[in-house]
Amino acid sequence: MVKKNGMATEQSRAEQSSVRALRDFAELAGDWFWEQDADFRFTSFFGVSTDMMRRDQSEFLGKRRWETGIDGVTEEQLAEHIAACHRHEAFRDFEYSVVGTGGEIQYYAISGMPVFDDSGAFTGYHGIGRNVTALRVAEVAIKNSERKMSQIVHGNPVPTFVIDVQHRITHWNQACARTTGRSEKEMLSGVALWAAFYGAPRPLLADLVVSGASEKVIFAQYDHASRSSLIEGAYEAEGFFPLLGDEGCWLHFTAAPLRDADGKLIGAIETLQDITLERKAQAALENLALSDGLTGVANRRRFDMALADEWKRARRYKTTLALLMIDIDHFKRYNDSYGHQAGDLCLQQVATALRDAIHRPGDVVARYGGEEFAVIMPDTDVDGAAVVSERILDAVSALAIEHSGGEGGRVSLSIGVATLTPDLKTGEDALVALADQALYQAKQTGRNRFCCAGARLDRSES
Ligand code: GH3
Ligand code: MG
Ligand code: MG
Repeated sequence: MVKKNGMATEQSRAEQSSVRALRDFAELAGDWFWEQDADFRFTSFFGVSTDMMRRDQSEFLGKRRWETGIDGVTEEQLAEHIAACHRHEAFRDFEYSVVGTGGEIQYYAISGMPVFDDSGAFTGYHGIGRNVTALRVAEVAIKNSERKMSQIVHGNPVPTFVIDVQHRITHWNQACARTTGRSEKEMLSGVALWAAFYGAPRPLLADLVVSGASEKVIFAQYDHASRSSLIEGAYEAEGFFPLLGDEGCWLHFTAAPLRDADGKLIGAIETLQDITLERKAQAALENLALSDGLTGVANRRRFDMALADEWKRARRYKTTLALLMIDIDHFKRYNDSYGHQAGDLCLQQVATALRDAIHRPGDVVARYGGEEFAVIMPDTDVDGAAVVSERILDAVSALAIEHSGGEGGRVSLSIGVATLTPDLKTGEDALVALADQALYQAKQTGRNRFCCAGARLDRSES
């Protein structure tokens, strides 16, 4: 008996010391212990200071948890918690809020275990509690700032999207959805960013900014890229997007880095501006400035530019460039006989016939001046040029424009054909000079015909 009592005392001493240890751990961890009786009423708190709970623990004693003025849970959540207690189940991290002594809301996370006596009868609960207010307040602050960011993006009529450091889309506003035809839901569900703009994978400007790509890399990826003069670390670029809109669209886009308070990169925001109309207007103006007003074919300026370009290209690729110089026969007489207005009309008809006779998209028909036209034909040898010349003569003869002073009573042309494979020593003027000589020859030998200058400069010069 004595022995037995001694063992019991030893056991209870061991239990007491482990309870003490638990209290110490709880206090150090910033948690508190609580105990309830079989009627779920608080009987004690320990390992707790008022500091931690922000409430005087004595206010809770004798009350059930759901009688302590708890908030921050739905009615269903609370009913479920009470039911679990009545079922004597353990629970973990049941979260709710109470009003602290100072009036501020305090968030508690509570875990509990049912306690049973030796005979298995339920005697109450014990468990731990933790004040998680700082965590919740921080979460709410983050949520609020996220909501604010979201509202800024969504309330913006400018197409805007945001990506994070993992290149995941976090924001995609309505305007962006309208421009790209891709909804926010679709894009946030993991559709690759490139797929909204391109037919094949490639980094967007925002991707390059997030990757910290060098200026060199950015400029290599985008033709018209530049550093933003307005936003630090941001870049701007322009591009044509054939997949957007009914017939493609031009976008000007700006991508700026997003950084946290420590300056760490956390993503990028990109805004888009549809500049299709401006581009079209600009192209129309350019076209106007490079077209001949009377006939609509290229004017002399465009002819000079195209010839210089094609000459360079032919030199680089060692191909043959053909040039036709075309002059209407006895046109002075035509004006004299039928009037200047009829002369203009005739020039328009001839220009249309020339355009119709030229089939390759790379060929350029131009009004060289007065009643002279020119045709530039890249990658065309003398045989090819001769075929086209023949076709032009036939087309004008088919117009059958009456010309009493002309060859055979009809408007006709003389064509000088020149073909050259450029070398480093000669410029494109040589080709023009050759074509002029050939044209002169065509005039001299009876008009309404074409003459070919030699395919090589040295042969025709000698
Ligand atoms: P040739 O067969 O030798 O070429 O004889 P041509 O009369 O055509 O020769 P020339 O080059 O001397 O004359 C060109 C004439 O083209 C002079 C001018 O009256 C006429 N011409 C030049 N530009 C225009 C124009 O814009 N409108 C009209 N109606 N006539 C023009
Ligand atoms: Mg002339
Ligand atoms: Mg003439």
